[in-house]
Amino acid sequence: MAIETNVKALVVGGGAVGTSIAYHLARAGWTDVMLLERDELTSGSTWHAAGLLPYFNMSYATTHIHDYSIRFYKTLEEETGLNAGFAVVGNLRMAQTDARMDEYMLYSSTAETVGVPYEFMTPEEVKAKWPLIRCDDLKGALYHRTDGYINPADVTMAMAKGARQRGVMIERKWQADAFHWNGTHWEVTATKMVERGGNLVPSDEQVVITAEHVVTASGNHAQRTAKMLGIRIPAIPVEHQFIVMDQDPKLVEYRKGNPEHPVIRDADAQSYVREERGGWILGVYEKNAPARFEYGVPDSFRADLFQLDLDRIEDQYMAMNHRIPSCEDCGLKDDFNGPICYTPDGNPLVGPAPGLRNMWLAEGFSFGITAAGGTGYYLAQMMVDGEAEIDMASLDPKRYGDWMTTEWAARKNEEAYDHVYILHHPDEERPACRPLRTSPAYDRQAARGAQFGMVNGWERPNYFAPMGFDDRASRSFRRGGWWQHTVDEARAIREGVGLIDATAFTKHVVKGPGATAFLDWFTTNKLPKVGRINLTYALTAHGTTRTEYTIVRMAEDEYYLVSAGAWTAYDADFLRKAVADKEADFGRIEVQDVTTQWGVFAIAGPKSRDVLNAVIKDADPATALSNKRFPWLSARRIELGMVPVNAIRVAYTGELGWELHHPIEMQNHLFDLLEKAGEPHGMKLVGARAQNWLRQEKSYRAFGNELGRDATPIEADLPRFVDMGKAFHGKAAMEAKGVRSKCVTVLIDGPADADPWGREGLYVSEDERVGRLTSGGYSVAFGKSIGMGYVRPDLAVPGTKLKVRMFRELWDAEVVEDSPYDPANAVIRVDG
Ligand SMILES: Cc1cc2nc3c(=O)[nH]c(=O)nc-3n(C[C@H](O)[C@H](O)[C@H](O)COP(=O)(O)OP(=O)(O)OC[C@H]3O[C@@H](n4cnc5c(N)ncnc54)[C@H](O)[C@@H]3O)c2cc1C
Repeated sequence: MAIETNVKALVVGGGAVGTSIAYHLARAGWTDVMLLERDELTSGSTWHAAGLLPYFNMSYATTHIHDYSIRFYKTLEEETGLNAGFAVVGNLRMAQTDARMDEYMLYSSTAETVGVPYEFMTPEEVKAKWPLIRCDDLKGALYHRTDGYINPADVTMAMAKGARQRGVMIERKWQADAFHWNGTHWEVTATKMVERGGNLVPSDEQVVITAEHVVTASGNHAQRTAKMLGIRIPAIPVEHQFIVMDQDPKLVEYRKGNPEHPVIRDADAQSYVREERGGWILGVYEKNAPARFEYGVPDSFRADLFQLDLDRIEDQYMAMNHRIPSCEDCGLKDDFNGPICYTPDGNPLVGPAPGLRNMWLAEGFSFGITAAGGTGYYLAQMMVDGEAEIDMASLDPKRYGDWMTTEWAARKNEEAYDHVYILHHPDEERPACRPLRTSPAYDRQAARGAQFGMVNGWERPNYFAPMGFDDRASRSFRRGGWWQHTVDEARAIREGVGLIDATAFTKHVVKGPGATAFLDWFTTNKLPKVGRINLTYALTAHGTTRTEYTIVRMAEDEYYLVSAGAWTAYDADFLRKAVADKEADFGRIEVQDVTTQWGVFAIAGPKSRDVLNAVIKDADPATALSNKRFPWLSARRIELGMVPVNAIRVAYTGELGWELHHPIEMQNHLFDLLEKAGEPHGMKLVGARAQNWLRQEKSYRAFGNELGRDATPIEADLPRFVDMGKAFHGKAAMEAKGVRSKCVTVLIDGPADADPWGREGLYVSEDERVGRLTSGGYSVAFGKSIGMGYVRPDLAVPGTKLKVRMFRELWDAEVVEDSPYDPANAVIRVDG
């Protein structure tokens, strides 16, 4: 039968992920969905996966995805009649150290916010239940009773059957070879693949399939896909091994009267173990596993494996013998060393492709069997409804920019693999491929003790410490060794003056005759007058927050938009696509990404004006920065020494302060000038961590924390930045959403040695969870922990008593008024 050539959606790739997407698109109501697979279904990484379905994940979005999958897979047999071999044996994570127990406790608070069930066990409880496991060196364990493992090929086939039952066309041995956007649809050239000499090669038979939407789920072929689309996709596989052992007589004996062991994860030994027909499977996340297929998958590699490298996994093998001593005499029965796709942060890339219309990526899955179900569900929501019910931004393919290269992705992916079982400290910084993107003052800051974090590839000081300080050793789930340095920096800004390198900010210039009308429609707040600034929001079509901008009106038709540094490509893509859509209505609009042209220093603190007064060049320097000549929320072109500076009178820390946007090539001159002028005032260099604490004292919402695609600006409790008197994109949808939950700031009487990280659940009592934190830290102004988060609207009232779950205990918290520090903004506005 001839292949259909006109469809609503075309899914490229018949692994677990592509198959689930096709299934869920059909389930969401799209009737003509086609899936193309170049070989056989599951012939990519899917067939050789171990099939474990771990709940455990430190990301809120990914935990939701895994949770959906596990629940969904349990329903598939009833729907399709196919048994996917879901063994709900549970999952036991063991901790050999106190720090690992801390990690599990932090994880468990995230799990609770999603509703994932878990329980903690003592070593004695583990031993009593599973006597074959050595427990004398354990601190404890975390147990998920409801997950387990599944047969990856069977679950894919069950989803394929479910998809076909819902009308999806699944075409095997067809390879997508070229993509062309004709302005309304994709024209996808597909080639019939044939067997030749054991290889799968293209035949002469080709068709062009017209599709309104295309999804790529091409697994290990992501680099080929990227090339065809003309974009960058940092999904490159790394070798991953597991071995299957012969029968273990002690296990066989144990099983005569007992159920199957849970999947046993010995994270401190980088390995997992599960039962397999009376023996054990050992899977490892070892060091030095190499990236593969950086430049494409050879024709000769089909459903193939690499050579086992036993030397590489010797340590983990020995650790397994230690953990389950009865393994020691079991021989090796089988081995698997296959490509497992990774991304630099270990999370998949799911969402709209950069720069392209109706092109969706679902690439870079390292836990693709676990994630397939949820990815299909949430991606189908994005495609069919315009948005998913959870904020998918942390998985968005545009979280990496055009600066990303194959070499960078390959090395970072090897690191991500190597890091699967490290302690996932929230203050972790990964070392590979650094430094790469540096502002000119990087060396100067490094010489003054900067401890850098990486944001979108940029090096940005997290905090400053005496030379020789070991950031890595200072990390903790509690207050790390860096904590006191951050306290000192936060105090410097509240009491004196500090200088923050904010060069990584995303910066766009939007100008031209259509710019004003466009931005008025695109953003929620009134546009500022020339020389003034506003905080404003661009919304999704569903009325939730897509981007936060500080918007500066440079001239009648020229605007300078500043947004979060982590999201340059994400913001640029949305802005450019909106401009392209609206130019016909509003007139010519020019968009320039000037992120790398402008450096930014934020100077803040009661003495910041004194520092600037010493270096400003002006006919009357003493008044140049006064409230009269330079009021709060205004922008001026000033000269500091020989540097032309676009100064903006705002401070994300809530103190008197200015952002100094300067030509990046003059940054070192400006740095030296400010450092010298700051000396008499005790100016301190300050990092991002102190800034993050300080902004919470002012209830300033952060993009990616309080602000995202799961809440409207009204739910974020920011009505003052929403002009309901005008029409703007997403307004009706925002109104229709109402207020489902509301953003609050809380002060917390927490443990003496820890602050929340912004992932913890909020409660009114032991049994009643009412929200979750999205930010956390320490307040120098109040001398206690602080956090921001979302709660039921009726509880978003100052004085409401709440509880925060930290380290398995509930700690008192109180909702405070917005901006608990300086609520009247008096210190920001102070004159001088
Ligand atoms: C040894 C090992 C053990 C693993 N264990 C687990 C585990 O326990 N749990 C877990 O969750 N994950 C595990 N994984 C990871 C898991 O295998 C992958 O994350 C998952 O299979 C990815 O699925 P996918 O659909 O994204 O990719 P794939 O399964 O690789 O599918 C991609 C498909 O796209 C097709 N394709 C590519 N390009 C084209 C094109 N242009 N046209 C048409 N078709 C195309 C390919 O032929 C392929 O079939 C393991 C991996 C390995 C290597």
